[in-house]
Amino acid sequence: MEDEEYEELTSSLTPHESAGGVTTYRNTVAIACPACGEPFDDLVICEDEYNSLELSMLLDLCVTTHEDEVLLFTHKH
Ligand SMILES: [Zn+2]
Repeated sequence: MEDEEYEELTSSLTPHESAGGVTTYRNTVAIACPACGEPFDDLVICEDEYNSLELSMLLDLCVTTHEDEVLLFTHKH
């Protein structure tokens, strides 16, 4: 993902929580997922070289990268 798209995306979303190298944003404005075109629920940005995620529900994930970060777009079933 390009810097410009990344800045626009993260400034439009609502920061939710940040811990252990993982930052979560809520998509409160129904932005379309850049990968599949459907609105996503959360954007999860993994900033460390290794990150672990504990999922509490079954999610579809779309994935992209920005520099060294991994971006996960979550879609609830
Ligand atoms: Zn998607």
